[in-house]
Amino acid sequence: NGLSSGFGNYENKEAGWGGPPRDAAYNSFGGRSDRSKSAFFNDRGAGSRGRWVSLRSVIYERGGFAGGGNSRWAEESRDDDWSKPTAPNERLEHELFSASNTGINFEKYDDIPVEATGSSCPPHIESFHDVEMGEIIMGNINLSRYTRPTPVQKYAIPIIKSKRDLMACAQTGSGKTAAFLLPVLSQIYTEGPGDALQAENGRYGRRKQYPISLVLAPTRELALQIYDEARKFAYRSRVRPCVVYGGADIGQQIRDLERGCHLLVATPGRLVDMMERGKIGLDYCHYLVVDEADRMLDMGFEPQIRRIVEQDTMPPKGIRRTMMFSATFPKEIQILARDFLEDYIFLAVGRVGSTSENITQKVVWVEETDKRSFLLDLLNATGKDSLTLVFVETKKGADALEDFLYREGYACTSIHGDRSQRDREEALHQFRSGRCPILVATANVKYNINVKHVINFDLPSDIEEYVHRIGRTGRVGNLGLATSFFNDKNSNITKDLLDILVEAKQEVPSWLESLAYEHQHKSNNRGRSKRFSGGFGARDYRQTPGSGSFSNNRSGRSAGGHGGNRGFGGGKQTIRTGVFCSFFFFFFNCYENYGRM
Ligand code: ADP
Ligand code: MG
Repeated sequence: NGLSSGFGNYENKEAGWGGPPRDAAYNSFGGRSDRSKSAFFNDRGAGSRGRWVSLRSVIYERGGFAGGGNSRWAEESRDDDWSKPTAPNERLEHELFSASNTGINFEKYDDIPVEATGSSCPPHIESFHDVEMGEIIMGNINLSRYTRPTPVQKYAIPIIKSKRDLMACAQTGSGKTAAFLLPVLSQIYTEGPGDALQAENGRYGRRKQYPISLVLAPTRELALQIYDEARKFAYRSRVRPCVVYGGADIGQQIRDLERGCHLLVATPGRLVDMMERGKIGLDYCHYLVVDEADRMLDMGFEPQIRRIVEQDTMPPKGIRRTMMFSATFPKEIQILARDFLEDYIFLAVGRVGSTSENITQKVVWVEETDKRSFLLDLLNATGKDSLTLVFVETKKGADALEDFLYREGYACTSIHGDRSQRDREEALHQFRSGRCPILVATANVKYNINVKHVINFDLPSDIEEYVHRIGRTGRVGNLGLATSFFNDKNSNITKDLLDILVEAKQEVPSWLESLAYEHQHKSNNRGRSKRFSGGFGARDYRQTPGSGSFSNNRSGRSAGGHGGNRGFGGGKQTIRTGVFCSFFFFFFNCYENYGRM
């Protein structure tokens, strides 16, 4: 079977997989570190493999998790080495890895600038082999056909591996999920479950689960996507990933949790519910990931997040490892970072989707009354079958436009906040499958899809929303197209839009330039929002003069590890010197910038 080659290949390339030294907790479970056992990987003989399957995995077999159960293993196995792969399972392997990612355009990728700041930042890697992640991870990287790390992965993996907290600002489509899953899972494999396992074993019927790692995500779609990725990298391991999210049957999720949960992906509201029902204990949660933090705050999840992280039994910062990911770094996120992270490394990853030339961004002047006929022209031009996402301002507008397109004979569907979870799922399914290749949507629904064409039928008033929207196309090195209808109603976004277009080396219509010029002179000193200066989504505010006053704002609370990291030089690494001129630009503006945050 072709797929199964992932692990074997790795074994051949890398002689010896000797993991890092085992710690005390691990040894207490009687782990083995005999190198000769690596032969197991190439030897699929049923007779020999059973010996290395742990007692734990046998429990899973009974629970139906690992599949391909062989009760004979139960008597034979005594090991509890989480760093060793469990038996392969062809059906599962096929399910997890057959839908491969489409070819990643690494030439474009390597151009993305990354900047790491913070005290003694570990050096970045260039290849997955530059850091020891163990045979399970390497095998699954092979099966996933990830040949090289993306820029955010090059930096984040060694940072997380060296047990540093991380605040990373990167756009969607940059490969953040694997950037945190690989090092976190790798550490769980080498260190074993520790106390979490004992706690779990101590309860009758394993009712309450004590995940070792928690990933918080804003929406069901994102949580599911992270969960799918986690299942890939947990393949042939003793780690069982679970996912919980709102708007779906809680009983089913509870039953799944009860089958074991070491890595939990959750939306905040549903997790609080699970905690209050006594189904989840965070007492042994040593890895916390907050993904798309800015979106979660936008959605009003801050109280739930604080409830989960600060007001329950989760180990405090400094004890647990914490990683936060966000597209932008506004003040609210800075405060969250300060409260959740200990002496963190700040990673600014250049914008992938939006600024890269992967996306052709067009802005066209269209009066309100002409929008519909213009849209039809566009749809006819791009071809019937390419996935097109049309953004409109209001729910009513979405319904009306869907109805109009339907009457004009287009296979389309729509999705917005008034739709039930079920309807939304159905619409997304119809869209993804290509049965309805046109999806009309409002801004307040979050997706994770890669489309050919994003059309801003109505432009948003906020440039970040624009960046998020067009990030739905041109993902991971694919080419994409974004067309925006602009008219008098959109003057508030003029300047920011112009900046984005210039920065991404897009064609700028001359009328937009003159509008921006007029606009700037009218609203003289208001300036632009400089969140995106220099091709980055955000900056490490600790690096800007005056950041001390921020720490003092809330004098009652600890300022965390921010003290020693100020100044421009310390620990900065860049992988593209071309951005230096933008640094100058940034330095000129940073003080003013800070004042605005
Ligand atoms: P983000 O969270 O930054 O939006 P994702 O983690 O969802 O990005 O990754 C986007 C896509 O890229 C996913 O389909 C993922 O499988 C793929 N991907 C991630 N890392 C790599 C890699 N190193 N090589 C190839 N594909 C990758
Ligand atoms: Mg993501």
